[in-house]
Amino acid sequence: MSCDCNEFQNLTANLQLLNKSILDVVTKLDEQTSMLNRAVFKSATHCGCIEIHATKQLFSQNKTLEENQLDLENHVEGELCSKCREKIEEEMGELIFYLASMCSALNLDLNDIMESKLDHLKTLGIYNLL
Ligand SMILES: [Zn+2]
Repeated sequence: MSCDCNEFQNLTANLQLLNKSILDVVTKLDEQTSMLNRAVFKSATHCGCIEIHATKQLFSQNKTLEENQLDLENHVEGELCSKCREKIEEEMGELIFYLASMCSALNLDLNDIMESKLDHLKTLGIYNLL
């Protein structure tokens, strides 16, 4: 099932009661980002289904951007267990809910923003990362 961004944004707008103010939306979005980050880190520190081994990313001057990209690490080892995956997906859903709420409060269209960003990514490709 493909998600309809317009339907999602309209529904979030209709379900806003306590957090309709842009001030509440901004603080909830910020709080939700922290909750998502916490869920990711707890997968490593409490559950242990993944491990995070961060090291310096090495770029070679003798390689192209595409070649360097292949050498970069995400620093995640292992796979999320079903419980951690479910928790992270739940927190991501909440984050998108508040992002859609911010769009509604500011009279912006989440779908238009995603399409614009998609076009931007297609045009710039890997150079978008610089
Ligand atoms: Zn886990």
